Parts: sequence; structure tokens; C-alpha cells
Amino acid sequence: QWVYVNGEFVEKENAKVSVYDHGFLYGDGVFEGIRVYDGNVYRLDEHLQRLYESAQSIMLNIPHTKEELTDIIVETLKRNSLRDAYIRLVISRGKGDLGLDPFKCKKQGVIIIAEKLAIFPKELYETGLEIITVASRRNRPDVLSPKVKSLNYLNNILVRIEASLAGVSEALMLNDQGYVAEGSADNVFIVKNNVIKTPPGYLGALEGITRNAIIEIAAEQGYDVREEPFTRHDVYVADEVFLTGTAAEVIAVVKVDGRTIGDGSPGPHTAKILQYFRKSVVKEGVK
Ligand code: PLP
Repeated sequence: QWVYVNGEFVEKENAKVSVYDHGFLYGDGVFEGIRVYDGNVYRLDEHLQRLYESAQSIMLNIPHTKEELTDIIVETLKRNSLRDAYIRLVISRGKGDLGLDPFKCKKQGVIIIAEKLAIFPKELYETGLEIITVASRRNRPDVLSPKVKSLNYLNNILVRIEASLAGVSEALMLNDQGYVAEGSADNVFIVKNNVIKTPPGYLGALEGITRNAIIEIAAEQGYDVREEPFTRHDVYVADEVFLTGTAAEVIAVVKVDGRTIGDGSPGPHTAKILQYFRKSVVKEGVK
């Protein structure tokens, strides 16, 4: 397996960065997770747009144009003979000294890893997920915006720790006002009486590329789709709940904080949306 590290392709075992890289020392950098379906990079423009906006927000220079990054991504896929893959694109602040000062880091790090995706076990899509809500809160958007997909995922890691300790594989974070924000690595949707709701970006969630695709697909299918705040109560009494993300795609949630959702199995709306999503992904990609 070949990994792109700062201008060259190296074998996975030799893909290394400096211990002085501020991405490692401080989580100072940004990243994207991108899917490749049958040789098509899914919604690459949107991922690159989000990457450049994340970088702009934290004053991080990306030492490539979008076209250059696209070429490197395509080359990485070719070198690894991958047609279905998960791509991790990382821009780190680069090597500095032990101080925080990012302006001492003169050369930003660029890393691209492409791998076969270890998709969630198929049975999880058939049975649905059990999740909980946790004490960890999404960081406030007025400080560091959750729209910045930064390398500092401690918030999300704390959520995963709480989830694991409770014996479940994912959890929902609330924002500082108690509204539902998102999962540790995915966005959340609820369905009630044919109305589909997902929290608006301003509540404090990453604006997921999959989330945006699902909003479009559901609207095309005639659903009333709303970006509207909701609380845990609304989740508990929903007909269906599902999560969306690049890795997870669309996955049903059947239990939240011990409350059974609907009849306790993945519902027809979630199944329909997943079906249309899977149909759309190949069509839409960039060859
Ligand atoms: N929310 C968080 C915190 C994430 O890390 C991710 C994954 O990237 C998502 C939501 C889903 O976003 P996307 O659909 O762009 O993968």
C-alpha cells in the first residue's frame, strides 16, 4: 500500500511524520474523509470546499490548489489499484518547535491515505444501532466552529469513550443549550409523520456531505425535510432515527437511551433513503 506523504509516495510502513509536527503535538490541522465508489470520488468538490474553508478558518495554508490535490488523490488511487475506497486527506500545520506558535511551522504537511473501507458489519444495517446520549457537549460555535473539521477530535473521542463504556457503538452529543447536535462521526436525522428533521448547522454540528446529500435525496422523494432544532424527547418519540456519514452512509438507530424507536427495527423511510442514496453515489462521482 502506497501513502502520499509530503510530495512522495512511500510504502505504508515507511509513511511517517516528525514528532515535531504540530498536527501530532497539538491536533493543529484539518482533514477530510472521502469515499470512492466504483472509481468515482464522491462529491470531491464539496469535500475540497470544506477542507479549504476549515483551513481558512484556522489560518492554515494548504500548499496546493484544489486541482493539484485532485490529481494527487487520483494518483494515490491508481497506485493502490483501488476502485472502492476510503480516502483520508490530512493537512497538518507541519514541523515547528515545542511552542504553540503555528507561524513557526513553515511547511504544512500533506498526507493522503487510501484504503479499502472496512464497512460496518452488514448485520448492523439490518438490525439497526443502539445508541445513547452523553454528557460531553459539542463545542460552542462561537469559539471554534464545529464546521471546522480539525485534527483535534478530543470532543468526539470523549463521546466514543462514553459510548463504549455503556456498551454501544455510537452516541449523540447535545449542544450547550441541550439541543441534539450530532454523533461522534456522523449527523443525525429523525422521521415523524413523514417529516424528516436534522439539526441546523448553527446548533453546532459538522455540515456533513452525506447529510447534505440526504437532504436533497429525501426532498426529491417528496419528503418534507426541515433543518430544525430538536431535543432528546423528539428523538425518543420519533418514528425513525438514522445517522449519516461518509463511512456509515445511512444507518438506522433502533434504541436511544434505552427507549425503543418505532417497532425496534430499521424503518421503511430509512430503508428507502439508503436505497436512493446508494443509487446516487455511483452516478454522481468524479471519474
Ligand atoms: N459529524 C462529524 C463530527 C464527523 O466527523 C463526520 C464525518 O466526517 C460527520 C458528521 C459526517 O460528515 P460527512 O457526511 O461529510 O462524512
